[in-house]
Amino acid sequence: GIRINGVSKVFAGLHRPAVDDVSLDIAPGEFMTFLGPSGSGKTTTLSMIAGFVPLTSGSICIDGKDISRLKPHKRDLGVVFQQYALFPHLTAAKNVAFPLQQRSVPKPEIETRVRDALELVGLSDFADRLPRQLSGGQQQRVALARAVVYQPRALLMDEPLGALDRKLRDQLRREIARMHRELGMTFLFVTHDQEEALTLSDRIAVFNNGRVEQVGTPDELYERPSTLFVAQFLGESN
Ligand code: ATP
Repeated sequence: GIRINGVSKVFAGLHRPAVDDVSLDIAPGEFMTFLGPSGSGKTTTLSMIAGFVPLTSGSICIDGKDISRLKPHKRDLGVVFQQYALFPHLTAAKNVAFPLQQRSVPKPEIETRVRDALELVGLSDFADRLPRQLSGGQQQRVALARAVVYQPRALLMDEPLGALDRKLRDQLRREIARMHRELGMTFLFVTHDQEEALTLSDRIAVFNNGRVEQVGTPDELYERPSTLFVAQFLGESN
């Protein structure tokens, strides 16, 4: 599992921490969502787990090992972040193959794994397309395939549905739920959309002002919110 111990982040020039003493335990195979309004510290927390942002204090352990000081690629985590776009000059298949080539996986195995990953996201017929020949939703599917193809310890996603229209969002949301069932991998998902969080997650961590206000299953949060903020945020409709 992933254990986040008293993690804080203070950016230079900001008068309060972006992330303020956050502790969370994420069980193996769990679908955990960070939910909260804009600026509440969700992305910064996920970025510290991914290794893109250094911690000011605290530690992050995976399976008992402190990974807080490791470089991102040494953490063995799959990431789908908005800024982590596809390589525009590579086909869908070559984008998905990239992390395997970096890890010196033998070529025949690369071919099988890329085929399986593209099948998992329903893009078997689009292997030879370039990103610009794919829709936004299809590009996000390629990014998902690329993030799980090397069987990482967890998949980290930051608003992966954010840029898509309503219909595509609903469709891709169902795909992500199915991927989670099929892979049995730990999924960490960031969103400000409570409906998305409530339908996808095993548990939700509600962020506000850099802190986690409450952690619980969708039912627990909905039926027994521990603060007024949680009650109001979950009660809001989009
Ligand atoms: P959003 O949904 O808008 O992305 P968020 O909950 O993910 O919001 P963060 O992006 O983690 O929130 O931001 C938390 C706080 O840290 C905000 O006040 C933000 O302005 C600040 N912040 C984030 N990144 C940086 C940075 N690189 N330098 C300075 N301040 C930052």
